[in-house]
Amino acid sequence: MVGRRKEKKKKLDSGKLDTIVTKVHSDVKEREQGYREQSLKLHPWVCGRCGKTFTRENLHLLTVHHIDHNHNNNPPDGSNWENLCIYCHDNEHQKMNEFEAYGDVNSAQQTAAATHNPFADLKAKLEKQEGKE
Ligand SMILES: [Zn+2]
Ligand SMILES: [Zn+2]
Repeated sequence: MVGRRKEKKKKLDSGKLDTIVTKVHSDVKEREQGYREQSLKLHPWVCGRCGKTFTRENLHLLTVHHIDHNHNNNPPDGSNWENLCIYCHDNEHQKMNEFEAYGDVNSAQQTAAATHNPFADLKAKLEKQEGKE
């Protein structure tokens, strides 16, 4: 009995991360189940970014990404789906968030410069006004 218990504990530890990942994704999973299963049938179990291959054992780490980021666009031929591992999927969405926030690097720098100057100007104006009164 003691030996068996030890064995069980070991198994739990190694499966801990998987369990957490599965738990975090469980609500998303339910919603995505339909197209995820379809995409996994249509596309190979390989991450489209890093090329990691998946088996039945770690398939829950392979997610389905919507290429146009529109989760309601689910053509049955799978043309809007891409199989991505959870890490590359996160990256993909981070890139998209940055793009949405700044447009591109140049406009981000321009925005920074534009917001800097008016403040300097305002400070000078305020100082002038204070001097007047
Ligand atoms: Zn990947
Ligand atoms: Zn996605």
